[in-house]
Amino acid sequence: MENLDNTLSKEKAMADPFLPVDENGYYGPYGGAYIPEILHSNVENLKKAYAEYIDDPDFMAEYENLLSEYVGRPTPLYYAKRLSEHYGANIYLKREDLCHTGAHKINNAIGQILIAKRMGKTRIIAETGAGQHGVATATVCALMGLKCVIYMGATDVARQRPNVERIKMLGAEVRPVESGNKTLKDATNEAIRDWCSNPADTFYVIGSTVGPHPYPQMVARFQSVISREIRKQLKAQTGSELPDYVIACIGGGSNAAGAFYHFLKEDSVKLIAAEAAGLGVDSGESAATIHLGKEGIIHGSRTLVMQTEDGQIVEPYSISAGLDYPGIGPLHAYLAKSGRSEVTAVTDAEALSAASTLTRLEGIIPALESAHALAVLDQMQFASESGRYAHNRRFGKDDVIVVNVSGRGDKDMETYLAHL
Ligand SMILES: *Cc1c(COP(=O)(O)O)cnc(C)c1O
Repeated sequence: MENLDNTLSKEKAMADPFLPVDENGYYGPYGGAYIPEILHSNVENLKKAYAEYIDDPDFMAEYENLLSEYVGRPTPLYYAKRLSEHYGANIYLKREDLCHTGAHKINNAIGQILIAKRMGKTRIIAETGAGQHGVATATVCALMGLKCVIYMGATDVARQRPNVERIKMLGAEVRPVESGNKTLKDATNEAIRDWCSNPADTFYVIGSTVGPHPYPQMVARFQSVISREIRKQLKAQTGSELPDYVIACIGGGSNAAGAFYHFLKEDSVKLIAAEAAGLGVDSGESAATIHLGKEGIIHGSRTLVMQTEDGQIVEPYSISAGLDYPGIGPLHAYLAKSGRSEVTAVTDAEALSAASTLTRLEGIIPALESAHALAVLDQMQFASESGRYAHNRRFGKDDVIVVNVSGRGDKDMETYLAHL
């Protein structure tokens, strides 16, 4: 492994108008590009292509047209009246669950695959955990007539059967990964191995704000449409663009990055990230990376990693396959450590309960991942059992709170039926 940062720094800075990222892809001490030599020119070319297209009016017009005509954007910002009465605050739900394919992931898949096409790539690979990123990637490949291979841990293949069937029906190949815990981390390792073997024709579509620079920045930018819409919609509904709180769950951090992006420089807006505590932060069975992680390198990036004393990655656990990852995007490591965001840990039980509350009060069945964000409402207002919400604050009745509902719960019905 080689750290490319010295070579990368000779190039022009890729200014991002909102993210606290330098031209080498560092968010404070986190980020960078720690990749094998064989991928060096791939990552260089991707950086150049990204910098070129993200400011290109033709590219952005094509991207935004697909977001509106194909994905169905803008997604509603819904004032949840009964939920608001229940919690004693003004709660708005950003409905990413209504995106085509059922989650926010497609915002990013479309952006990256449009770049891949412009770069002349003919083969797309991706990793997936819960299968949502696999479905989004396979969907866009079908739309654009591209060959697609999805790496998925064998454990996840078994527990996410409906998404596996969807990926196959869309014409993509699913490759089950038998190493390690057979989950997302292992699928990611295998995808990186494929990329190293096929650097010329293959584009690796990463599904979250993780991986080597420029992926975390690129994914955040493609998801930033979420907060751009929130500002506009909130202005129309309340007269102010700025809420008091934005709450999102974090696996690798892409839906949270998108929901936070246009508020990062607005100090009055408090940003709360919910990570998965599994059976409890101190239970040994969790995916609470920001609470438990130490600095290390995972999948091409320096960030917080759940690891043993001697640097072995600790296998994560969460009831939600989409949050079951032992790392965290470098942006979120930085936001948490710098105090810009507050991070709370949500147990399986708290998430299940929050999913039930939303379903019964609003008729919306959320993804298990999104239920972790909704559980923050219980932690704040009713100080639920985990007591992990450190700040012990209450929302006021005039507070405006936006919760990002990152996806819908169809894929989680078996789990809900087994537990509720
Ligand atoms: C994948 C997924 C997540 C977690 O990924 P992030 O990159 O942290 O957003 C959250 N919610 C849903 C519905 C997902 O599919």
